Amino acid sequence: SEERSLNFLEQIIEEDITNGVNGGRVLTRFPPEPNGYLHIGHAKSICLNFGLAKKYNGQTNLRFDDTNPITEDTEYVDSIKADIQWLGFEWAQELYASDYFEQLYQFAVQLIKKGLAYVDDSTAEEIAASKGTPTEPGKPTPYRSRSVEENLDLFTRMRNGEFKDGEKVLRAKVDLTVPNMHMRDPIIYRIKHAHHHRTGDKWCIYPMYDFAHGQSDSIEKITHSICTLEFIPHRPLYNWFIEQLEIFPSRQYEFSRLNLTYTVMSKRKLLQLVNENHVTGWDDPRMPTISGLRRRGYTPSSIRAFCDRIGVAKRDNLIDVSLLEFCIREELNKTANRVFAVMDPVKLVITNYPADLVEEMPAENNPEDPASGTRSLPFSNTLYIEREDFMENPPKKFFRLGPGLVVRLKNAYIIKGESFDKDADGNITTIYATYYPESKSGGDTSGLNVKGTIHWVSAAHAATAEIRLYDRLFKVEDLSSIEGDFKSYINPDSLQVIKQAYIEPGLVNAKPGDRFQFLRKGYFSVDTDSTPEKVVFNRTVTLKDTWAK
Ligand code: ATP
Ligand code: MG
Ligand code: MG
Repeated sequence: SEERSLNFLEQIIEEDITNGVNGGRVLTRFPPEPNGYLHIGHAKSICLNFGLAKKYNGQTNLRFDDTNPITEDTEYVDSIKADIQWLGFEWAQELYASDYFEQLYQFAVQLIKKGLAYVDDSTAEEIAASKGTPTEPGKPTPYRSRSVEENLDLFTRMRNGEFKDGEKVLRAKVDLTVPNMHMRDPIIYRIKHAHHHRTGDKWCIYPMYDFAHGQSDSIEKITHSICTLEFIPHRPLYNWFIEQLEIFPSRQYEFSRLNLTYTVMSKRKLLQLVNENHVTGWDDPRMPTISGLRRRGYTPSSIRAFCDRIGVAKRDNLIDVSLLEFCIREELNKTANRVFAVMDPVKLVITNYPADLVEEMPAENNPEDPASGTRSLPFSNTLYIEREDFMENPPKKFFRLGPGLVVRLKNAYIIKGESFDKDADGNITTIYATYYPESKSGGDTSGLNVKGTIHWVSAAHAATAEIRLYDRLFKVEDLSSIEGDFKSYINPDSLQVIKQAYIEPGLVNAKPGDRFQFLRKGYFSVDTDSTPEKVVFNRTVTLKDTWAK
């Protein structure tokens, strides 16, 4: 890989190592909330956290940020683990913020004892009002002056389930006058009588993100806690808790979120697409999820290459999805075997080829990879070719087939178009051609010079396949710039299904996940819906960037 300059996170870590901070130790974490499947934005965070640790001989914890009992589920936990492993990363420890509930509770008690937290009986509206506005300082509620003893008693009773949801909260006593609104006595515990996917009914009070995240980092002795830019204003609070509790000083650093053109990236919105059946599931090949990209035919290395190319910045930006497509195309060009598939078939009869003859034509699997070898393709007098490769009245420079035009059948013979049949609607049903016996590929002595080469399959030998072609899921480039419901911008033509395409016979043995270049057509991978009776392919990406700008 080519040399590039250090990104700002690498610079920070190298400085820390030079200065002996934490003895040069590097421990990062990836902290997903198990409330949805991972998407390509998470992949960026994964590549960063695991990549930085690996580069500096450190480790990375996988920590489920499961402090919100309502939206979390073990289905999501399992999918997240599978996706990270598939991307090629190994975590040092699998951890759960919920495992720290007792410790976090004790941290809260410690703050109360120091006079730095209080139980507030105010309503949500009253608390919001107490915080003031960015231009006006807040005012204390009547509960801010409660004694340590009273706060300890009330907080214990909150834990014991004596109060209803919303009746009381625990707030940190920071400062109601500082400009940073996050520091104006933030709520750190709320009452929620809800079943948690791991702790069951043990708790009815749950810590807020700001109280759980930094302390979880600290408990694990995370050295570099990397998060997205929207957490910049939370950083003073992150540091305040660590200082007041006198615990291990993890440090937070922020980078820009990944946004991609023509898609949405929030789990809440992706969940809506799934629940309202705009897609077939989290792993629909049109989804920007890791599972969707995998099903579409993306490889882990192409996603890692993409994350590497976009780099890390400190300013939010919108990345063109064609860069992601470029990364998979570049890889598959080197690795995918070339095969023949006719997607819009029309019959071609070679009138001077013996009706009972079948020849085996050797075909190179991948010209980019000499080790990939060859296969053989059965050739007979009746073939299927692409409808678009024949024109009844071809214009000049149409280097394919038409009456009187010559073309090479790839890996086989040169043929000349002679005539055709049409049905009552004027559609061509059969094309007739003649072949030049001396023009066989590999031993051509015909002296003919043809400009075009087309692909084909033998009608009697071909297998059938379903092919799914995908387009952008949304019609607009920048989904952050729209007004109204994001779902009204869904592209109604994002999926086109070809029910009966013809593929070369060897492809019936292809397994889900296998990837091919359909010659002249694009890169395709076998879908999980595929069976030996009916192979189903997804178009991963076209051969060239054909997206109209
Ligand atoms: P969402 O809004 O989709 O729910 P989130 O940030 O709440 O996203 P988490 O499960 O909390 O989702 O994310 C886990 C980690 O992945 C966090 O550190 C978060 O910053 C990071 N992350 C999430 N989305 C992106 C993105 N688009 N680009 C880069 N990192 C991201
Ligand atoms: Mg989050
Ligand atoms: Mg979220």
